[in-house]
Amino acid sequence: DVPVIAVDGPSGSGKGTITQMLARRLGYHLLDSGALYRLTALAAQRQGVSYEDVDGLARVAGSLDVAFQPTPPGEPARVLLDGQDVTSEIRTETCGDNASKVAVIQPVRDALLQRQRDFCQPPGLVADGRDMGTVVFPDATVKIFLTASAEERARRRHQQLLEAGVDVSIDALLDEIRARDDRDMNRASAPLRPADDAQVIDSTGLSIEEVLGKVMAAAGQ
Ligand code: C5P
Repeated sequence: DVPVIAVDGPSGSGKGTITQMLARRLGYHLLDSGALYRLTALAAQRQGVSYEDVDGLARVAGSLDVAFQPTPPGEPARVLLDGQDVTSEIRTETCGDNASKVAVIQPVRDALLQRQRDFCQPPGLVADGRDMGTVVFPDATVKIFLTASAEERARRRHQQLLEAGVDVSIDALLDEIRARDDRDMNRASAPLRPADDAQVIDSTGLSIEEVLGKVMAAAGQ
């Protein structure tokens, strides 16, 4: 059996950075499931499919032409949609927000399910998302739920954006994070919650290295 480390949690909890580092250390594949929801939102927009058109969105999700290309350590994987580099386009706040709107639609989630499971290849997989331990990989070897206070997540996002040359107020980011948490936790389809057998790690006040240490320990490494 191929080992799967499922890492779920709200946006801004540090999952992206941590799962990248973990996958690299273990030599495992990485599934960034959020990217698939972001790509669905972007592809729908490009094809003129409205976020109310359930069948249209499911079709877009089921026919995504996506490629993830490896990059040097520390950089996010390069993401191609229909052969075109959309790496930075899918990282915007707007795309994240649109992703969480298409993610409430069950047929969209169904259409992405097998594609996510296909990432499970030897020697192992680190899976980053909201429902990795609850829905996509219910038999995962290790389940981790990574969280942090909304204020801390807004501060981290603020810092990230500043480094990218974008200055958005912390208060505006905090509002966005709360709205996204609300949508992700209170939806009917695969709401964000820790799996019953998940180990919860609160990263508030911890450095990336400290969080990685806790996650590695939880993963038995
Ligand atoms: O993790 P990321 O911020 O890229 O995810 C964008 C949005 O996609 C989340 O806010 C959530 O609504 C949705 N998502 C999801 N299930 C996943 C991963 C992401 O519903 N496994």
